[in-house]
Amino acid sequence: MAKVLVIADIKRGEVKRSTAELLAKARSIGAETAVVAIGNNLEALIPGLVSAGSESQYVADDLGLELFSAAPYASCIVDAANQFGADQIWFASTESGKAVAPRVAARLGVACATDITDVTSTGDNIEITRPAIANKVIQRVKINSEKLVAVVRAGAFEMTAEGAGGSEKVIRLAAPPADLGAVVKELIADASGDIDLGDAAIVVSVGRGVKDQKGIDLVKALADDLGAGFGTSRAMVDSGLMGHNKQVGQTGKIVAPKLYIAVGISGAIQHLSGMTGSQVIVAVNNDPEAPIFNVADYGIVGDLFEVVPILRQQIKNI
Ligand code: FAD
Repeated sequence: MAKVLVIADIKRGEVKRSTAELLAKARSIGAETAVVAIGNNLEALIPGLVSAGSESQYVADDLGLELFSAAPYASCIVDAANQFGADQIWFASTESGKAVAPRVAARLGVACATDITDVTSTGDNIEITRPAIANKVIQRVKINSEKLVAVVRAGAFEMTAEGAGGSEKVIRLAAPPADLGAVVKELIADASGDIDLGDAAIVVSVGRGVKDQKGIDLVKALADDLGAGFGTSRAMVDSGLMGHNKQVGQTGKIVAPKLYIAVGISGAIQHLSGMTGSQVIVAVNNDPEAPIFNVADYGIVGDLFEVVPILRQQIKNI
């Protein structure tokens, strides 16, 4: 039986949904599962890690680990992987996951595959699936290594009932020596208080069609009505109207919500590669030829300044 170690994605004292998704997938392929949790004051999170489907929990709980820093986090994960005898180590595709995964792979001398959407076999013949060339092709890759560090695309695995209900076996990890190469002094959280795009069940995104801040505010109100994450296109980021942390696409975030609403976005291939994993796509655009309509399940051809207020009113009426 393969042994899969899942790295818990913990932000602001909360275990993110991706952790349960990875554990559910590991259990669905018959793997023995463990999770590693790193941070400070983690005790309260352990029951959630158990119920998400981990059979053992490696916990590195130390004040020095409160702020994310790649080197000490990698040391904790290598320690847990060695103690557990992990065949595979799975990270969610977050900024921190992407920073730590290659370090862990290098330290263990095993393969590292990023942006994966499936693991099609385990054991001696590991094969992974991942999109390439802005989602134009799907690659199936045979891993030439008995062990694997994998970074999994957001929403690639479902949170199924198979994942639920692990067992509690807590193993305390020693805090690694301070990382003298770099010291993280402060993390500045996104002040907007917006829902994290990776976690949001609904994402509403704005493109250049909104023109200015007034247009952004109009669509943001729709996002707020729906309790949705608020995303954007690169054109909006390049123009300085929106921050890069909101950009969806090839050089931004990959999202796979239940519902993605694209407002005033043309649907360039680089944007599509970040959102076509969404379950239902709705597009609002005044150009009936806009490429976004090729991927949309529901398309509204019209002026967003007229359509968005009607949508908001209809939602209030539900
Ligand atoms: P536009 O293409 O200008 O589209 C605006 C749309 O709004 C049009 O379709 C128009 O019909 C519609 N519109 C205008 N007025 C209205 C109105 N009143 N009502 C309704 N609709 C209206 N882009 C990304 O998004 N994410 C990425 O990660 C990304 N990475 C890239 C990487 C590379 C290497 C390169 C070269 C490009 C990348 N891009 C990325 C940029 C991408 O090619 C497009 O330029 C960008 O996505 C366009 O953004 P947009 O749809 O907001 O703007």
